[in-house]
Amino acid sequence: MKRLPKYTPAEVRNDPYGFTYKEMSEVIGENEAKALYEELYKQLPRKKNLSMLVKNICKSSDTEKYVYELKDNKYIETVFIKRRDGGTVCVSTQVGCPVGCIFCESGRNGFVRNLTSSEIVQQIILLRRKVNRIVFMGMGEPLFNYDNLIKAIHILRDRYGLNFPTDGITISTVGPVDQLKKLREEHLKIQLTISLHAATQSARNRIIPHMRIYAIEDVVKQALSYSERHNRKIVFAYLLLPGINDRPSDVRQLAKWFRGKKVMINVLQYNPTSNSRIKAPQKREIVAFKHQLEQAGLEVTM
Ligand code: SF4
Repeated sequence: MKRLPKYTPAEVRNDPYGFTYKEMSEVIGENEAKALYEELYKQLPRKKNLSMLVKNICKSSDTEKYVYELKDNKYIETVFIKRRDGGTVCVSTQVGCPVGCIFCESGRNGFVRNLTSSEIVQQIILLRRKVNRIVFMGMGEPLFNYDNLIKAIHILRDRYGLNFPTDGITISTVGPVDQLKKLREEHLKIQLTISLHAATQSARNRIIPHMRIYAIEDVVKQALSYSERHNRKIVFAYLLLPGINDRPSDVRQLAKWFRGKKVMINVLQYNPTSNSRIKAPQKREIVAFKHQLEQAGLEVTM
């Protein structure tokens, strides 16, 4: 069995959100750990337990964007999307991002550092909102911060803490193959969304340049393997970029991979920003592409 790292009580008390209940109990004893978990997860957040603070909240009718300041004066964003009863939170896992998707502002300035498990967990705690769904899809590529992400998920699921249902947790990833293999072997039946965005290697290299080290077929194969092992429907996100990934041959390739599999394709609309280098599709182009996929026998949403 894997040995727990050695911690001191001071480490636990300085950054308690970074500890699983089991780790905490090993260091400060079960009764103390239960009391501290109660304070951390069932009461209003206390300043002495936090290592980050809410710097700004930008509210609209259906979303709230939280800007958090970390201890080293770096900033991250967390988005809360309101639903009828509670909401979905989009959680960041890194400061910056090393992936460099051509459509993304977060990755434009490159990678700065991984978030700690504690910083991942605190993004949810500090919202002070009823959260029904947690999606790891904010700033950063979650699977490039694998250990801290998995530990944060264990902390969030702990029955002495938030007791968050595994079913309500989604990892949205560009699909680094080695990490997908590792995730397949975890005893965690979480939902998986793969940002595929292409049906050929050359289109994917253009859209997600830093993922060119992985063959697109391997990403697909590994994601389908996760689906089979955990009996989960996988969502493949597909940002439609006219002239890049919307040819009839792309539809045929997607059908070849996914027809008859537990897969849903989520066709996404690109929303250009002021710095955009690519053209946004017209609504009718998205509808037509969705229709072609459906005609090819695939389950599609948009
Ligand atoms: S992986 Fe996510 S955060 Fe990183 S560049 Fe791509 S879209 Fe942006």
